[in-house]
This record gives sequence, structure tokens and C-alpha cells, in this order.
Amino acid sequence: MPLYEYQCSGCDERFEALQRIGADGKDLTCPACGKPKPDKVFSTFAAGSVSHGAAQSAAPAPHSCRSGGFG
Ligand SMILES: [Zn+2]
Repeated sequence: MPLYEYQCSGCDERFEALQRIGADGKDLTCPACGKPKPDKVFSTFAAGSVSHGAAQSAAPAPHSCRSGGFG
């Protein structure tokens, strides 16, 4: 199995996990804070490469209707 790198959207913790090919890490949780669904980190080894219609499947984050602006 390939080793993928993930980054927690909650505490920015980076960690690696063995995943099946094509896995998106939805079943993973952050080892630091326990937050589920970490972001997959893509290696930046191909510097200067031109993207030619790469299929990006970025799921839009749902807007939460939170009231109050206390930061
Ligand atoms: Zn975390």
C-alpha cells in the first residue's frame, strides 16, 4: 500500500498513513486532536510542470450558519 501524507484542518498536524490506492482518507482521524477527514497533502516534486486539465475533486466546505462574531 502506498503511503499518503495528510494534514489536519483543525490543528495543522501533518501525518502519514498507509492507504489503499485512490483512498481519500475520509476514514482517517488526526492523531493529534482526533479530528476526522484530514486534507490530503500533495507532494510538490514536480516544480514548474504545467497543469493540463487535472481533475481536481475539491469538495466545497459547507458554510455553517454561525451567529455571533467573537472571532
Ligand atoms: Zn488535528
